Amino acid sequence: MPEKIKNYINGRWVGAASGKTFESRNPADAREVLGVVADSAAADVDAAVRAAKAAYPGWAATPAPKRGEILYRAAEALIRHKADLGAWVTREMGKVLPEALGDVQEAIDMTYYMAGEGRRLCGETVPSELPDKDAKSVRVPVGVFGLITPWNFPVAIPAWKITPALIAGNTVVLKPAEETPICAARLVKILCEAGLPAGVLNLVCGFGETAGEPLVCHPNVDAVSFTGSNAVGGRLSVLAAERHKHFAMEAGGKNPIIIMDDADLSLAVTGALWGAFGTAGQRCTAASRLIVHTAVYDRFVAQITERAGRLRLGNGLHSKTDVGPIVSEAQYHKVLDYIALGAREGARQILGGPHKKGACAHGYFIAPTLFLDVRPTMRIAREEIFGPVVCIFKARSLREAIDLANDSPFGLSAAIYTQNTHHAARAERDLNTGLVYINAATIGAEIQLPFGGTRRTGLGPREAGGRGGALDLYTQWKVIYRDFSGRLQKAQIGETP
Ligand code: ADP
Repeated sequence: MPEKIKNYINGRWVGAASGKTFESRNPADAREVLGVVADSAAADVDAAVRAAKAAYPGWAATPAPKRGEILYRAAEALIRHKADLGAWVTREMGKVLPEALGDVQEAIDMTYYMAGEGRRLCGETVPSELPDKDAKSVRVPVGVFGLITPWNFPVAIPAWKITPALIAGNTVVLKPAEETPICAARLVKILCEAGLPAGVLNLVCGFGETAGEPLVCHPNVDAVSFTGSNAVGGRLSVLAAERHKHFAMEAGGKNPIIIMDDADLSLAVTGALWGAFGTAGQRCTAASRLIVHTAVYDRFVAQITERAGRLRLGNGLHSKTDVGPIVSEAQYHKVLDYIALGAREGARQILGGPHKKGACAHGYFIAPTLFLDVRPTMRIAREEIFGPVVCIFKARSLREAIDLANDSPFGLSAAIYTQNTHHAARAERDLNTGLVYINAATIGAEIQLPFGGTRRTGLGPREAGGRGGALDLYTQWKVIYRDFSGRLQKAQIGETP
């Protein structure tokens, strides 16, 4: 029996006001309907925003350490539900079970980390230039946050946004991806059962245009955090700017791995396979460009082709599966269109393509796909494909490799495999991305550090991390000057010494 997934508004599970629903299906076997989900529209968004606005004064006034205690309880509850939630991530999104459990673990890590921030929401006290006067800055919440999340980390990314928003004293309306509403509903249920007051965290399921856009545009939503495609992020940034809302987005990557002639080649191949084909390439940090030194190019290509060809596709719940399906029919066709485009642009496909054999017949499977003879100007080399598709380039030197790596509209993550410390140091300095990995693939960010990218990848403060990361997005500064001189004192207008 499919799950019935409702909205969660003001502490109650309710269907869409219109009564409409849509289906969530298993991408490994699209015949299986997993959930029947509230198909929300502006009226539902409005009810959720009202609830969030009403709950805001009480939540903002709750001492941050007390808010943290609820998040600690939520983290403990997530641990108890980890196996179940992880299995739902695999069923609904497709990634293999160990990765799905990692998705949940990331949410647990983030929830603990943000719970701790409840006792560390520090500002600064600084000396005043005037006598009998002091000055301090404090972090205060922003208000009601609209959070719009993608399907590729259906538990971790909502948790990345919800927990810093809540610890800072904001209230939240979450609009999760239409592909993964069951995961979002389970996460919200666990967080709320840990003791969040009604209205503090609300869930509205539905599609981008009909539920997401009304959330961004709602006059009582003070701030928006978005993770998803670059095109949608760009559009939402304009809508938010026109309405003077705080806005941050993370929207894509075209992440390179440089493999130098002095690299441990076997380690580099292992890393490239993990970076490119983990989560079937459906990560914003997935390695989609491999830039290989000419001296080891032939050996590298032979090894990665052989090992990528051996990866087993299938249902992510089966322990022998290496690569799960693409999340949906629409994404499946989008990735296949890019593969066809690569051939039309003149690149040479040596592996991969659609995979419909045996148990994969009814799912959206694409085998690890490799392109050689790719020019940096080709669309497959520049646009985010978000699937198991990799372009392999040659470079004659570290300089050429770094220039190729930086020649991208995106700047999320980059990696280098080298055993030469000078090469590593130069790459660390010159790669123009938000994340740089040395002798590791482009994926695997840890929650205690800021996450985000340069150029078109992102806008606004970084996700994750604490100060310098998520707290800069989910709080704003208030500065307080206190004059206890009992007379009029004028800053900047005193006597020059
Ligand atoms: P993808 O192509 O990877 O699904 P999207 O950017 O389309 O990425 O979706 C990411 C999130 O943004 C989802 O929750 C989706 O519903 C939402 N979304 C898509 N279009 C809009 C829109 N016009 N307004 C608001 N949210 C949107």
